Amino acid sequence: MNFKMKTLSTAVVVVGSGSAGISAAFELYQQKIPFILLERGDKVGGAGKFGAHGVFAVNSKQQQAQCVKYGYAEAFKGLTDYNHYFVNGELLARFLKLSGANIDRMTAMGLPVTVEQSEQKAHLNDPLVYHKFNNFKEKMANWDQLPAKFIAEGNQVLTETAAVDLDYSDGLKAVIVADQSGTKTRIETSKVIFADGGYCGDPDMMKAKYADADEFLNLGERKAEGTGIKLAKKLGADTTHTPVLFAHGCAPSLQINPMRRDSSVETLTNLPLLWLDKTANRFVNEDAVYDFAMWANAAHNVQGKYYVLLDQKTLDHFKTHEVPLEDTFERQFCEVGQTPRTTVGPLPNIQTDFDAAIQTGEVVKADSLADLATKLNLSLAALQRSVQSYNQAVDQHEDDVFLKPSDELLFGVTDGPVYAIVEHCAILGTLDGVNVNRNCEPVTTAGAPIKDLYVVGNNVNGLYSDGYPSYEGIANGFAFVSGWIAAQEAVKSLKQAKVEA
Ligand SMILES: Cc1cc2nc3c(=O)[nH]c(=O)nc-3n(C[C@H](O)[C@H](O)[C@H](O)COP(=O)(O)OP(=O)(O)OC[C@H]3O[C@@H](n4cnc5c(N)ncnc54)[C@H](O)[C@@H]3O)c2cc1C
Repeated sequence: MNFKMKTLSTAVVVVGSGSAGISAAFELYQQKIPFILLERGDKVGGAGKFGAHGVFAVNSKQQQAQCVKYGYAEAFKGLTDYNHYFVNGELLARFLKLSGANIDRMTAMGLPVTVEQSEQKAHLNDPLVYHKFNNFKEKMANWDQLPAKFIAEGNQVLTETAAVDLDYSDGLKAVIVADQSGTKTRIETSKVIFADGGYCGDPDMMKAKYADADEFLNLGERKAEGTGIKLAKKLGADTTHTPVLFAHGCAPSLQINPMRRDSSVETLTNLPLLWLDKTANRFVNEDAVYDFAMWANAAHNVQGKYYVLLDQKTLDHFKTHEVPLEDTFERQFCEVGQTPRTTVGPLPNIQTDFDAAIQTGEVVKADSLADLATKLNLSLAALQRSVQSYNQAVDQHEDDVFLKPSDELLFGVTDGPVYAIVEHCAILGTLDGVNVNRNCEPVTTAGAPIKDLYVVGNNVNGLYSDGYPSYEGIANGFAFVSGWIAAQEAVKSLKQAKVEA
């Protein structure tokens, strides 16, 4: 019997059809270089298609038309400084310099974006850098139309097909792929671009890097299992880097989508009430709720979980009153032209919602602080001290420890029953993986590129020191641009090889 693997051949294999992969494939399509685009899922598109709202860019034509003063120099200096110089300067520079032109390119791809003000209250006065998808449904539909274009030019798009290995000795020979049934195919090729989206879908990698991984509400692309990172590492690529979590927002459950907002419990977690960590201490100015990345980083910093504390009086107040606090997700869901609400409530269903959440364990109800300390296994002394000190700040309209704005110091915790909402750090993926050079080629610890391989998007080290910065759209912007860079470099190298042959 002949067990020989089926064989295909092409010039370039692109692994993953999310932002970085679709962008790489589009460049190859435009340059008429034959390729095979692989996608583990049954449809094209990863987090970039199903999740991301936009991309970061500087010096786009739209920004120029609006006389935006923030350009390459400000972004380069800002990001380098923000990350304490733990950045890959050449890669960062190349990304930023191409980011503006990428906006026009996205229009050519059928994925137009428009520069708009931030959706986050903490960033309303930031420079205009966020280019948002005009219409989410259209984005998804247009993404789905790209494979047909690629195929019409003789390329292949293989869904339900995952890259699993490489045949590599002194250069790339083939990418080994497996379909849903495990049947393997050998794709003989000269170049591979790993655009498989990081590793948030690999529980072992997550646990190895993040001690609090079990506390995360993982909203990232779970089909991203670290394939490219692992295979590049096997070939000697340097993967040394501080783990970078794409922490973004928090939610009162490991199941709930924090942006769904269908329960008053969620609404209250999206406000700057009193937050305590697992040691019953306050740990941050709760105003951080208005900056998604910083909010989630603060939660990650206290092992991925914290409690939102309120008493029955406060709950009853929300039931019948409009409260002058803005829901942090309000602006994300405003229709164009709609004025965002800067208040919440009344919340007539709040008691029912809380009672339901008590049943699922998302909320813990206690008769008193002593009872709560017992139920949550907290130090009563620490709990009493934290609550007392917070109540004092509310009474005095001044928080001289964490410096929360006085207009957010609204609700002390005085009489039982008391409620603790169990809040978890939400994540949208991972942002560390392989060290690469300015061409997105993986490099060894000696800095030598591993030829014929390119690593892009969420798989790459070098843009962030230790956490996601508050530069909206930067992960997705980098994914599109890095896919573009890798494809350009692959084409250049193929053409060079042809000349030399
Ligand atoms: C809900 C959500 C909202 C987000 N919002 C924003 C935002 O507003 N702004 C922003 O900058 N970023 C945002 N992001 C992050 C952004 O989407 C990612 O940074 C970006 O999509 C990364 O691109 P990528 O190509 O590396 O990965 P992805 O877009 O996730 O694509 C990876 C693809 O590779 C496929 N794949 C994985 N392994 C294999 C394999 N072995 N073989 C074949 N295929 C494979 C996956 O199925 C997936 O389709 C968001 C993410 C999520 C989850």
